[in-house]
Amino acid sequence: MNAGAVFFFCLFVFFLIFCSDHIFPLQQNSVSRLPVMSSKRVLTASNSLENHDCQPAQKKMRKEPEPTKPKAAATIIGNRRPPVATTRAPAAKSVRVAGAATVAAGPSRGEMTDNSRVCVSWDAFLPPSISGGGGGTRRHAWDLKGKVSDMEGKIANYQGKLKSASLENEQLKGSMAQKQLRAAEMEQELQRLRAQLSDYEKNQQTLLAVQDELEKTITDKNTIQRDLANLKAKFTVMETLRESQEVELQTLKMKLSVQESTVARLQTSLRDSEEQVRSLMETVAQQKDDIHAGEMERRQLHNTIQELKGNIRVFCRVRPLVDGGLSEHIQLSANDNKMLALAKTEESHVGRAGDTQKSYNFSFDRVFGPKASQQEVFDEISLLVQSALDGYNVCCFAYGQTGSGKTFTMEGDDTEETMGVIPRAVQQMFKTAKRLEEQGWQFTFTASFVEIYNENLRDLLYTGKANKRPEHEIRKLANNDVTVTNLTYQKVCSEDQVLNLIALAKQNRSTAQTNLNDRSSRSHSVFQLAIEGGNAGRDINCKSTLCLVDLAGSERMLKSQSQGERFKEMTAINSSLSNLGIVITALANKENYIPYRNSKLTYLLQGCLGGNSKTLMFVNISPEPDSFGETLNSLRFASKVNDCVIGTATANRK
Ligand code: ADP
Ligand code: MG
Repeated sequence: MNAGAVFFFCLFVFFLIFCSDHIFPLQQNSVSRLPVMSSKRVLTASNSLENHDCQPAQKKMRKEPEPTKPKAAATIIGNRRPPVATTRAPAAKSVRVAGAATVAAGPSRGEMTDNSRVCVSWDAFLPPSISGGGGGTRRHAWDLKGKVSDMEGKIANYQGKLKSASLENEQLKGSMAQKQLRAAEMEQELQRLRAQLSDYEKNQQTLLAVQDELEKTITDKNTIQRDLANLKAKFTVMETLRESQEVELQTLKMKLSVQESTVARLQTSLRDSEEQVRSLMETVAQQKDDIHAGEMERRQLHNTIQELKGNIRVFCRVRPLVDGGLSEHIQLSANDNKMLALAKTEESHVGRAGDTQKSYNFSFDRVFGPKASQQEVFDEISLLVQSALDGYNVCCFAYGQTGSGKTFTMEGDDTEETMGVIPRAVQQMFKTAKRLEEQGWQFTFTASFVEIYNENLRDLLYTGKANKRPEHEIRKLANNDVTVTNLTYQKVCSEDQVLNLIALAKQNRSTAQTNLNDRSSRSHSVFQLAIEGGNAGRDINCKSTLCLVDLAGSERMLKSQSQGERFKEMTAINSSLSNLGIVITALANKENYIPYRNSKLTYLLQGCLGGNSKTLMFVNISPEPDSFGETLNSLRFASKVNDCVIGTATANRK
């Protein structure tokens, strides 16, 4: 053996040691036990590797330390090894084999399909003699040369293998670099995909929102579609309506054209009518002037007639007996209605045959018998009422003993038939005023109702508390008008209002009655209606008063019979009635001094008695024979008034 051979031998030994330490650690305990594998076993191991290690090897090995490999290795050596050794293979050896397998298994991680190329079989590392494939014979212990040559063969073989292994390693490294590159690319791709995913997610969110929006829009669309359907239905109805209205419109247009031609015709006729109306209005204005002139003339003539009849007139009215008949001692003229006679048979002291019939004849402006109705009586004085509207003061008195019919004549009863002078006069006033309105007249009426008892004034229209009745005084104003302080002056514009006032006055009078003492018969009641009229168009105004007076009973009492209150009453009545007669006489005689102030009655009525005023006196007489004396007195008083004023009435006195 030369030095070279020794060197190679030593190198081989070192290599073996190296291999036993680094490449084949499983056999480190026995160098002599180099692995010799049958191809069959190798195939098994390979199969085993294929079965197990071609999985991601590192993970697999760490998780499951598989004892199969050492078994295989043991088996390779082990045609001669006992089966126990096989089973006793230390775990560490298994790990080593696994570690060796790890090198081969590395590439398998990348591509499982290329397993046959990547996985390294043990056969690749074994010389054919060892592996048994060559079927070489065992060398003798002394055949070092042979052994060296075997070893050299093996080394050459190993070197080749090493080269191919390192080449493969390089390939694997390159592959790994590629894979890493690929992994980096994949990582980048992954990043990109993640970014894309997050974009997609955002897009998804947006899309979800859009979807919500879309759903809402769809709901809205459905609603709108429903509305649209409704509107379409309505539209159809409206369309139908429109069509019918169009037809109607056509009809109306036709009617309108007819109407227009009618209107044109009517306008022509209207123009003609307007022309006529204008001329008629001129005529009416002319006639109004004529009427006014006629009215003025009528007033003048009316006044003249009234003056001719006498500004103071006396009417006599005889009350019927209770049974409606007439007493024998009152005789009315059959020829005219102005005469009246009172007849009385006076006994003669020379016997019955010497009895004398004594007759008292009276003549007045008018005598009303017991059958004369209220209307007849009023007809005679209605002309005076007209005078009041014409602007003349009118005074109407009822004079006579108690029970003779004064109140009946002035106020009357409630029925249409029995209504007295006051309501009838008022009725006529309102009626005439209404008629005169057409000629441009406007009237206002103010009513007052006052009672004079024992020379004291009492407001009969008072509606306050009895214990708070105010005192009244008669005052003469600067314009000669007379007014009463604290008296109720009530504006009236209808007949009903006046009737209500009369009713109130009646009530007020009756409350003053005491026991059987009929106060109304011992007091004067004065109803006054102030009339103010104006015709603005013609600038004419008039002012007058209508006074209707129900005087106290004129009966005389014997002084011996009247005492105290009754005497006072009697004195007041006698005084005021006498004074009334005196005033009327003085007025009729146109005396300078008229004693109005002598009694409250004349003082209150002074405005209505003087000047151009018209005065009417009713003398009411009772028909009963026992009233003969009082009747005579009344007729005498009335005749005196009548005589002195007019002078037309002649009193046939004896
Ligand atoms: P005086 O007011 O004068 O005291 P009245 O007017 O109260 O009298 O009359 C007394 C009664 O006689 C009353 O019941 C009244 O109705 C009645 N009377 C008076 N005059 C007439 C007449 N002309 N027709 C019917 N009844 C009358
Ligand atoms: Mg009376």
